[in-house]
Amino acid sequence: MRTAPGEFEIIRDYFAGAPTGEGVVLGIGDDCALLQPPAQGLLATSVDTLVADRHFPADAHPAAIAARALRVNLSDLAAMNARPLWFTLALTLPHSDADWLRQFADGLLETARTYGVSLIGGDTTGGPLSITIQVIGSSNAPLRRDGAGVGDAIYVSGPLGAAAAALPVVLGQKMVGERDRSDAERAFYYPEPQLATAAAIGPLASSALDISDGLLADLGHICEASGVSADIDLHALPVAPLARRLAGERALQLAACGGDDYQLCFTVPQARMAALEKLGLDAVRIGTVIEGPREVRCWLDGERWLSESAGYQHF
Ligand code: ADP
Ligand code: MG
Repeated sequence: MRTAPGEFEIIRDYFAGAPTGEGVVLGIGDDCALLQPPAQGLLATSVDTLVADRHFPADAHPAAIAARALRVNLSDLAAMNARPLWFTLALTLPHSDADWLRQFADGLLETARTYGVSLIGGDTTGGPLSITIQVIGSSNAPLRRDGAGVGDAIYVSGPLGAAAAALPVVLGQKMVGERDRSDAERAFYYPEPQLATAAAIGPLASSALDISDGLLADLGHICEASGVSADIDLHALPVAPLARRLAGERALQLAACGGDDYQLCFTVPQARMAALEKLGLDAVRIGTVIEGPREVRCWLDGERWLSESAGYQHF
C-alpha cells in the first residue's frame, strides 16, 4: 500500500510540475509567483470556492470536480471578455489520498492545457473538502454589467436549462438511462467557458455576464447595475435538448431560472445588431432593454409570467 503523501509531497508530486506559459517569470515553489502582465489591456481577476456536498457531491470523480472548479472560474473571465493567463489553487483535503490527488491533478492540468492557462501557485491545507481557484486574465475590451442602455437587444450565447435538469441525476436522486446520465455529467461538470463568443462580441456588446445562478436572476444584476429593466419573451429562450429530455414540461422553467449553464447573457445596442448577426454566432435574441425600476419582466403568449423561483441564493 502506498503511504499518504504529506503537504510538501502533494505540492511537489501533483502540482509543482505543472507546465507554465505566457508571462510566468517564476511559478510554483517560492513565496510568491512572479508574473509579467501583458503590455496592453487590464488584468481581470476573480475567485470562486467549491465546497463538497454543497457545490458537488463529495464522492464525485476527482477529475470532474477539478474540471468544473477551473471551468466555472474561466467562465468569469469569459464574462468579462478577458483572455485567461494564470490561476492559483487553494485545496483543502479531509485526508491525503494519492489516487484521488492523481486524478484531480490530471483533470485540472488537462483543463488548464485546453484553455491555455498556467497554474502558478496555491495553498494546501487539511479540512472539509473544498477547492478555491483564483483566475487572472487580461482584457483589451472588458464587458461590464453596467453598460446596458434602453433599446439594446438582449441575447444569450447558447442553450439553457441543461445543468439544472442534470442536477438531480448528478446527485443520484434520479435514475436515467446511460446516455442521459453521461450527458448530465457532461452538462454539470464540464460547462464550456464562452471565451470565443466573448472575444467576438467584445467590441459590440454594451454589457455581459455569465449565467451561473439562473438567467432571470443574473439578468437582474445587469438591470440593477445599468439602471434599466428588461423585457423577455420566454418563447425565445433556447431550451437545451437535455433539459427537455430530463425535465419535460419544466424545461422552460429551468432554462429561465436554473443555474450552472455558464452561457453568457449580453446586451447589444440596436446600431450594432446587424454587425452582431453577421458574426454567425449561436447566440439567440431573447428580449429588449427598457426603461423601468431595474426589474426583469417575462412574457409568455402575451401574459406576464412570474417565476416560481428567482435563482440560486447561497443563504
Ligand atoms: P508558504 O508556506 O510560503 O505559504 P507553501 O508551503 O504553502 O508556502 O507553498 C509552497 C509553494 O507551493 C508556493 O509556491 C505555493 O504557491 C505552492 N503551492 C502550495 N499548494 C499548492 C497547490 N495546491 N497548488 C499549486 N501550488 C501550490
Ligand atoms: Mg502557504
